[in-house]
Amino acid sequence: MKFDTQTVHFQQEISASVRSKASPVYQTSAFVFKDLEEMEAAFQKTDHFYYTRVNNPNTQDLGQGVARLEGAPKGVATSSGLSAILAGVLSVAKGGDHIVASEDVYGGTYTLLSRELTAFGIDVSFVPFADLEQVKRAIRPNTVLLYSESITNPLLRVEQIEHIVQLAQSHQLKTMIDNTFATPYFIRPYEMGVDLVVHSATKFIGGHSDVTAGVLVGNEDVMASAKEKVVNFGSSLSPFEAWLACRGLKTLSVRMERQAKNAATLAEHLKRHPSVKRVYYPKGVSAKGNGAIVSMELADACDVASFFKSLSWIKIVPTLAGVDTSVSYPAGTSHRTLSADMRDRLGITSNLVRISVGIEDAEDIISAFDNALDAASAAES
Ligand SMILES: *Cc1c(COP(=O)(O)O)cnc(C)c1O
Repeated sequence: MKFDTQTVHFQQEISASVRSKASPVYQTSAFVFKDLEEMEAAFQKTDHFYYTRVNNPNTQDLGQGVARLEGAPKGVATSSGLSAILAGVLSVAKGGDHIVASEDVYGGTYTLLSRELTAFGIDVSFVPFADLEQVKRAIRPNTVLLYSESITNPLLRVEQIEHIVQLAQSHQLKTMIDNTFATPYFIRPYEMGVDLVVHSATKFIGGHSDVTAGVLVGNEDVMASAKEKVVNFGSSLSPFEAWLACRGLKTLSVRMERQAKNAATLAEHLKRHPSVKRVYYPKGVSAKGNGAIVSMELADACDVASFFKSLSWIKIVPTLAGVDTSVSYPAGTSHRTLSADMRDRLGITSNLVRISVGIEDAEDIISAFDNALDAASAAES
């Protein structure tokens, strides 16, 4: 099946006696057995259903659905993007090991790696992955993993995945890529040789801002270990959340196609706008487009507070990826835990706005931003 067909047809067969068109929510904490023999058989298999924390048809659908789109054999759904990252990292790294991570990773990932995992004796070096020489120099004898994102947040740098894979393979390291911003619609890191690919399904996989979930995919070996972490740490996803994310996943292709088209149109418009100093929108991401996120830096004279006050129907949220257009303020949300120095060095200035472009009519999106930019330049800071 082709990608667009797979996004719609990925769920497991439904009990023939019910004949429901939509997949049901298996809102159950456990599954029943008719005798000890049946129970024994279920417990011997990892993908059987006996207890929802271990496995459930809805969470399995989500994990396997995303795995198929990524071209990977195995996937597991988790309670959030961060718990998927945790399970992935801990499936390859233990106390005494070292990780080299990109310095511009998602703020929550930065906190997880730099504050929490260091307490377990896992050492992390953050380096600019745009410069692979620096990545290479950061590798130590105890390094086990190179970690980055396919498209970074919020400045939308496109990672050189093939080069990272080459570097990792020449040092026998594993690679892990957060593919949240790109989605498998635009980039499929597993097919480029990456060992573990992680998603905050809260974002484009779900697509409707109504679910918090994560998915981790990879080969059978690493995923067996990652699945154990999810089960043993109790970070599995609930059936209903998984069901919602699966429903969202079915429209991934049509959403991404429209959102990327709108994003490209908006980015072009903003580039010519006198109140915008700089637009960040990647080029050459894939033949299908360049994603749905556009960041911009307002001109120095603009008043950023007035911009946010004048957005009318566009929502201000500390997240992204819904079908509705929204904006976020990275310096005050996703990157607030970074020091001011680090933010400046990364280019996350106090005038930086991140836009998640939705599926609305592009003309309405443009006029809403024009109004807010007019208000920002009229107010002057
Ligand atoms: C949101 C996000 C996460 C964290 O996901 P949660 O579902 O909030 O735990 C990780 N990486 C990226 C790139 C994100 O945008």
